[in-house]
Amino acid sequence: MERDRNLVVKFSGLKDGLHQLEFAVDIKFFESYPQSEICDGSVLVLLNLTKSPQMLVLEFNATGAVTLECDRCIGQFQCPVKWERKMVVNLHADEFADDDDLISLPESAVDLYIGQYIYEFTMLSLPARKVCDEAGSGQQCDPEVIEKLVQVEHKQEENPSDDGESDPRWQALKNIKFEN
Ligand SMILES: [Zn+2]
Repeated sequence: MERDRNLVVKFSGLKDGLHQLEFAVDIKFFESYPQSEICDGSVLVLLNLTKSPQMLVLEFNATGAVTLECDRCIGQFQCPVKWERKMVVNLHADEFADDDDLISLPESAVDLYIGQYIYEFTMLSLPARKVCDEAGSGQQCDPEVIEKLVQVEHKQEENPSDDGESDPRWQALKNIKFEN
């Protein structure tokens, strides 16, 4: 993975104390992670970095939005992004280690690449089910596509519909209920 130079925290030259840093990522960043399935988006990350001789405390605060493809209607929808995360960086470790919210760096380290954390935490903040109706943005699935999907399903089941409740999946569920 190529490191984006804009996402490198050069802490070696910083004085002890609090530093407020700002990072912005957009679709170019997400495109470097093809598995993300993010179509578009931008996220602003505010980072409160507190430096002391032994360690760094990193407090991330991210806000933004990404565009995802709906698993149900294949349309694109906006999904808000909001997450906070605190990490501690040990500056006097024997070797590099990344253990959940504790990062260990050897004393020779002068900077820290935070791109992968921004990516991971953004992905973790997204809903597990990528569906328009459930993204919290008020957007609905494309009704025309849903209608067509329902028609196709009915054809496949060779079960002509006469009312709105004839979806074979619902019928199957009802039968299970009656058997109990
Ligand atoms: Zn949808």
